[in-house]
Amino acid sequence: MEVASTVRSSSHHTVEKNKSRHKIPRDVEKDIEYLYEVVPQLSQIFRIVDKIGEGTFSSVYLAEAQMTDGSRKMFALKHLIPTSHPMRIAAELQCLTVAGGTENVMGVTYCFRKEHHVVIVMPYMEHQTFVDIVGSLSFEEVRHYICHLLKALRHIHKFGIIHRDIKPNNFLFNRQRREYALVDFGLAQGTPDTHIEQLKVVKSNANKGGWSSGRVEVAHGKQKLLPLPPNTRNPAVQSTTKAPAKRSCLPSRMKLTKELLVLDKAPRSVFGERNLNSTNSHKTGTDKVEGPLSKPKKEEVILRKIVSSKRYSVPVKTPLNGQKQKAPVLSQTLRSQKPKPATVNQTLTCSCYMTDRICNVCLSRKQQVAPRAGTPGFRAPEVLTKCPNQGTAIDMWSAGVILLSLLSGRYPFFKASDDMIALTQIMTIRGSRETIEAAKKFGKSIVCSRELPRLDLRILCETLRGLRSCDDGSLPVEFQSSRHPTEVKQDADSSAKKQMSQSGSGSLKRPAELQEMGWDKVSDEIYDLLDKLLDLNPVTRITASMALQHPVFKDIKD
Ligand code: ADP
Ligand code: MG
Ligand code: ZN
Repeated sequence: MEVASTVRSSSHHTVEKNKSRHKIPRDVEKDIEYLYEVVPQLSQIFRIVDKIGEGTFSSVYLAEAQMTDGSRKMFALKHLIPTSHPMRIAAELQCLTVAGGTENVMGVTYCFRKEHHVVIVMPYMEHQTFVDIVGSLSFEEVRHYICHLLKALRHIHKFGIIHRDIKPNNFLFNRQRREYALVDFGLAQGTPDTHIEQLKVVKSNANKGGWSSGRVEVAHGKQKLLPLPPNTRNPAVQSTTKAPAKRSCLPSRMKLTKELLVLDKAPRSVFGERNLNSTNSHKTGTDKVEGPLSKPKKEEVILRKIVSSKRYSVPVKTPLNGQKQKAPVLSQTLRSQKPKPATVNQTLTCSCYMTDRICNVCLSRKQQVAPRAGTPGFRAPEVLTKCPNQGTAIDMWSAGVILLSLLSGRYPFFKASDDMIALTQIMTIRGSRETIEAAKKFGKSIVCSRELPRLDLRILCETLRGLRSCDDGSLPVEFQSSRHPTEVKQDADSSAKKQMSQSGSGSLKRPAELQEMGWDKVSDEIYDLLDKLLDLNPVTRITASMALQHPVFKDIKD
């Protein structure tokens, strides 16, 4: 990077106002001052203008630098949380340096460090927020979007990088300029033959169940943070550029209410993460579990959740007769079919199979160690079931979920705070029998309390988009109201409920408009690709380079 020496006096850290457009909120100003303080070198090069993203693991800022030729250039500064493991940071950087800068993968310009503070400098790419545009994209735009995402995936997979967090927030899209960039290698892992040296280290540690799951643990608040400025702990982002939703998996009642309010503007998700894991049911479930252990390990928590979800399954109002119906829930946990290395516990016989209780044998089983980071709604079945062998196919599944959103106009499509809920939602679309069959192939056994039929993807997407009548009986009754049972929160307050039902699939578009956007003549090919991306079995799931050969892209040139 060639930058002029000093564009900003480094002695004082007053944030200059972004001249033209907006005033920076007070807390963002404070965050910017804090960043100058902890990484003072930045002030000699950058004028930090705004905060553009804040997650659990980083804050991203927009900054301007004066280049040696006198021009000014914008950069994105990603300030990693100081608790990030050095190996993790090195791995993220190496992915960017080795694979980035080409083929729709974000590059890196520079990296600053002072003590435990690391700032990754990248070229700034202006982009839209997915939720704002997903409903207005034309079919051609969708086809190009997915093609460019697949190119990025083909590229990183060639390097043996598994991204593990493929979702729209990590794939920047500038609609006007038709630019795309895959970002955020903060969870990446390597394939056994990865070209990224640092990922080899990450991987071996991950297999030991070590710190690579640190990001997840931080998200659950188990780790103490180093001193941070007061507002760093407040996830509210007030920058004018829309920030992505923060990474979090613990739904609190308050948060749910917030989400419901947001739904008013945003395209609705097809599934909600409602009360299956509400604090109440969780507590009750915990009481129900017998066992000597006081501090639950991860797997036990999951087991308890299942107990509670069984007892508190969601009664659903069907649109016409108002009769209550039980939403399907998983009645049992996932079991490894292969016997594990013998331990004392393994020699005992389990007595809880197919019941809604968990016996002591199962409670004392060792936790299955498998990488499981990412965002529940985008996790592949093999990730949700903690299959230990996970490859690049997991990114392909996530790309399929993105395509599902693009074709249905709904985002997020799967909205789950919990892996079991996410798996149930997958079964609702792809069929329970099919999911169980596929899981068997990778050594996992799933039990589902009700058979869920596999849905036709075209009918599903067209119905959700409003192109097809909901009531012609081609979809199960849950979809005929164009709303899924799990989305109705039993005890949601009535105003929130009202908001949800008002925010349908958005304004129904007029036929002429739909024609213009190409949605009236969508080929079967795209649904064939979708089907191959959402293949429940990772072994047969389409790869990125195969997907790019798919007939749906035949007229798109590189
Ligand atoms: P995290 O690990 O916290 O999710 P990301 O790398 O995904 O961090 O960045 C968070 C957000 O910051 C992105 O979703 C995007 O909106 C914004 N962002 C990241 N990198 C860039 C960039 N190079 N240009 C523009 N915006 C960026
Ligand atoms: Mg991200
Ligand atoms: Zn048991």
